[in-house]
Amino acid sequence: MKAKEFQRVPSESWGSVLPSEWNDWSWQLRNRIQTLEQLEKRLSLIGEERAGTILAGKKLALGITPHFFSLIDPQDPDCPIRRQVVPRIEEASRAPDEMVDPCGEDSHMPVPGLVHRYPDRVLLLVTDRCASYCRYCTRSRVVSGAGEQELTVDLEGAFRYLENHPEVRDVLLSGGDPLLLSDAKLNAILTRLRSISSIEFIRIGTRIPIFLPQRITPELVAMLKQHHPLWMSIHSNHPKELSYEVREALGRLADAGIPLGNQSVLLKGVNDRSEILKDLFHKLLLCRVRPYYLYQCDLITGSAHLRTTIREGQEIMEQLRGYTTGYAVPTYVVDGPGGGGKIPIGPGYIVGMADDRVILKNYKGDVYEYPEISQTQVAGFKG
Ligand SMILES: *Cc1c(COP(=O)(O)O)cnc(C)c1O
Repeated sequence: MKAKEFQRVPSESWGSVLPSEWNDWSWQLRNRIQTLEQLEKRLSLIGEERAGTILAGKKLALGITPHFFSLIDPQDPDCPIRRQVVPRIEEASRAPDEMVDPCGEDSHMPVPGLVHRYPDRVLLLVTDRCASYCRYCTRSRVVSGAGEQELTVDLEGAFRYLENHPEVRDVLLSGGDPLLLSDAKLNAILTRLRSISSIEFIRIGTRIPIFLPQRITPELVAMLKQHHPLWMSIHSNHPKELSYEVREALGRLADAGIPLGNQSVLLKGVNDRSEILKDLFHKLLLCRVRPYYLYQCDLITGSAHLRTTIREGQEIMEQLRGYTTGYAVPTYVVDGPGGGGKIPIGPGYIVGMADDRVILKNYKGDVYEYPEISQTQVAGFKG
C-alpha cells in the first residue's frame, strides 16, 4: 500500500495569484467565494445548486475560501468537498422532526452566548463568523449573518458567570470559528479566562486549520501556547481535506504542545463508507490528531439529503473497531435531539449481563465470557 498522500493545493487553478497572496490568510478571506456569480465563474453548477445558492442568502450564507475551493474536483458532480460547502435546494425543504436549534442550545443559555448543559463544563460562542460555511451547520440559525436570528454574546456577563460558578472547570470556545478573531482579541479572551482560578481546561473548537491553514501563523501559535493547558478540536470529514498545507499547520500547533482532536460528521455521499473514514483517521494520526468524535448528523432543518441512518453509522464503526489502531477509532455519538447532550451510540460489544458473568463479543463477532465474583465470595476464598 502506498504511503498517505498530502498533496499541495493547486493555487494555479485560481488564476494568476502570487504565492505571497495565496499564503496570506487575509487574502484568502477577502477572496472567498460568496456570490452565485463568483461560484459560477469557477464551477458549472447543476440546477439544484444554483437554486440552493440563491436561497443561501436568506438562510446560511455561501462562503468558501480559495484554499478549500481548490480541493473541489470540478469534473465530479458528487465531489465530497463540493457537497460540504456548495448549497443545494434541498436545504429549503424541512423534513419531519427537523429543527432550527437541534441541540436545544438557546434554552440552555444562562448568559447570551454561553451554553451550560453539563455539570462541569460550558460552551462559549465567541463569534458568529466562519472562514467557510458547512451546509449542515448545526448552528446555521445564528452563524454567517444571513438567517433571521442573530447571535448575541455577552462576554463580560459570561466571565462573571464563570467567576460565580466555580464548578465549571472546562471552557470550550466555539462559534462561529474563534480563530477568525484577531490574535489580540483571542489573547484577551484567553487571558481573562485564565484569570479565573476554577477554570482548568480550555479548548478551542475550530475548522480554520482545514478551511484556512494560512491562519495558523507562528505568531498565533506563540500566543496560544501562553495559555496552556490549551487543547484544540478541529473538524475534518474527508481525507482529501488533509493537504500538505493543512499537515504543516497542524504540525505547528502540535509542536506548540497543543493536543489535537478531530470531530467528524457522518455525511451521506461525503464519508459514509468505512474505507473513506479509515483513510481520514489514519491521515489524522500522521498529523498528530486523535479522532475524538464521529457525530451522527444533527436534525438541522434542510439536512435530510446529507443524513445517514444510525444503523449505517454503527455498521461503519463495526468495520473500524479491531481492524485498525484504537487511537484511530473515534466515539460515535448523537447529540440528543432537543438538548440531551452527546450520547454514545456504539455499537455495543456486550451481548448480555448476569449476576455472575458478562457475555461479550469481539470485533469478529466471537463470543467471550467474563466471570465476575462478589466480594463476599472473595472473602470465602481466604485461607
Ligand atoms: C459538546 C459540548 C461540550 C463538550 O463535551 P465533551 O464531551 O466534553 O467534548 C460541552 N458543552 C456543550 C453544550 C456541548 O455541546
